[in-house]
Amino acid sequence: MQTMKFIWFDGKMVPWDQAQVHVLTHALHYGSAIFEGIRAYACADGTSAVFRLEDHCKRMLNSAKILRMELPYSAEQLGEACIETLKANKLPEGYIRPLSFVGHGEMGVYPGNNPVQTIIAVWPWGAYLGAEALEKGIRVKTSTFARSHVNTCMSKAKASGNYINSILAKIEAKEEGFDEAVMLDTNGFVSEATGENIFIVRDGVIKTTPLTSILGGITRKSIVALARDLGYTVEEQQFTRDEFYIADEAFFTGTAAELTPIRELDHRRIGAGHAGPVTKHLQKEFFKVAKGENPKYAGWLHHYTV
Ligand code: PMP
Repeated sequence: MQTMKFIWFDGKMVPWDQAQVHVLTHALHYGSAIFEGIRAYACADGTSAVFRLEDHCKRMLNSAKILRMELPYSAEQLGEACIETLKANKLPEGYIRPLSFVGHGEMGVYPGNNPVQTIIAVWPWGAYLGAEALEKGIRVKTSTFARSHVNTCMSKAKASGNYINSILAKIEAKEEGFDEAVMLDTNGFVSEATGENIFIVRDGVIKTTPLTSILGGITRKSIVALARDLGYTVEEQQFTRDEFYIADEAFFTGTAAELTPIRELDHRRIGAGHAGPVTKHLQKEFFKVAKGENPKYAGWLHHYTV
């Protein structure tokens, strides 16, 4: 990854190489951290825009609440700190990673009075699954690892420890030559991918999995709203892997993955084997919105200049 000049660390702008923690940091041992992934896009008018900053900061506070972590910041303060970090690093376009973690103090699972620390890092990050993936689509497999049961890991929290499940599924998929994994929930229904929500299109109707076992994706929410505004029918409904096999189109959504078409699942070609018309349409409209080219969604953007 490309290194930058500064990382925001507990309210101070710290040189990149000096943003360090002790090896006995609680989160390093037990996964007791929560984070966000946010993107900023360069706009045609010369400004930059963070996509749905407020929603991401609110989700961060909700993740903290679920994990019983006390953050000494409001959503607004976190948002301001993100903008400050982008500006300090003169980054017009890229990825923003706020992270709050239980720090160094007592050992043992109980976080007790260990300090909760917060950092915000930013860096340039192109297409998460590759530029070609955005264009042509990716090959995915159903993971042998199920998404955590709804009473196991609290999927509504974007918590570091939850990502062990994602890491296991991702390694398996990559080692078997696939780009990404689709995980089923513990009832056998399609849930989400390792860092993306899932959509299928069949007979003109768009379907995405309900919120039950997934992280409530901000890209997912945006695509549902955008698709409905464009006149598509969108259903939030459970579906099975075989319904996925016979979909006309399928795609992932996520801040990092943006809107990535899926061209194959478990060696079954999806539709025509490349990005379908609905997928392409939504992808085009999504990028227009994110880059400030659709005034109807101006409220989703937080503009700044470096
Ligand atoms: N599910 C998981 C497990 C994720 O890590 C992500 C990425 N944050 C998503 C879904 C998509 O969420 P968003 O669109 O808010 O990035």
